[in-house]
Amino acid sequence: MIKAKKSLGQNFLIDKEILEKISSITMIKNKSILEIGPGTGNLTSYILRKKPKKMIVIEKDNELAANLENKFKNQLTVINDDVLKVDETSLFGEKVIVFGNLPYNISTEILCKWILNLKENFWFESLILMFQKEVADRIIAEFNTSNYGRLSIICNWKLNIKKMYYIKASAFFPKPKVDSSLLFFYPKKNFVRIKDPNNLEKITRIFFNQRRKMLKKPFNQLFNGDQRVLDKLKIDLTKRPQNINLETYYKLVCEYENLRC
Ligand code: SAM
Repeated sequence: MIKAKKSLGQNFLIDKEILEKISSITMIKNKSILEIGPGTGNLTSYILRKKPKKMIVIEKDNELAANLENKFKNQLTVINDDVLKVDETSLFGEKVIVFGNLPYNISTEILCKWILNLKENFWFESLILMFQKEVADRIIAEFNTSNYGRLSIICNWKLNIKKMYYIKASAFFPKPKVDSSLLFFYPKKNFVRIKDPNNLEKITRIFFNQRRKMLKKPFNQLFNGDQRVLDKLKIDLTKRPQNINLETYYKLVCEYENLRC
């Protein structure tokens, strides 16, 4: 009998209807599949039934990883490691579909690592990921709302995001304290070219450091009050960070990079 470890965010999805729905979101047959944190293999089984060409799973828990090896024998490859340390981009020779009922404590860290490290050619076709509902709300938040912030800006830079399902805590065992949402991410064809994604990280951090304050202070800190940038991007410094839309943030990063080069 496996005892769930809280430290590894182990809440296993047990609702069969939801498992079937998640594994039916996109065509799996003959595709390469990567699953993050497969746990006891509940979603893994549903995915394998759809006959992927190749499947790799990354599971940090040694006991669960050994169980998965046993349970699925020659049907998949188990990487017993921390997803934050694995280079997913080199696991397959083609684009993959990524599934993950992510451990809540590192879900945004995993997603931001992937997005900020994306190269010209995307290594994935889509990401189908479960988040704590509040985190998902922040990822998909529109500007001028209180949930809008760094996470929304970073996640929407190169990816289209669709909210697929709202999933009640009772669908998991052990039952978590919060509900979840399943999001579907797929690459944007057009996005603003930023030279160094660390600058997107830096600028959003400085702007949202004091989210209730006007834009004047962070803007002056980064751009030394450059009126040309304000006019070009039509930015009103009496507004708050949440009143600036996505595109303007991406363009601001480009302006910042132009000034530094
Ligand atoms: N996918 C399973 C399911 O839906 O039933 C389990 C999901 S559970 C929320 C998160 C899983 O991620 C656990 O199996 C946990 O051991 C694993 N995990 C936690 N931290 C991890 C990490 N850094 N790298 C890889 N797996 C991790």
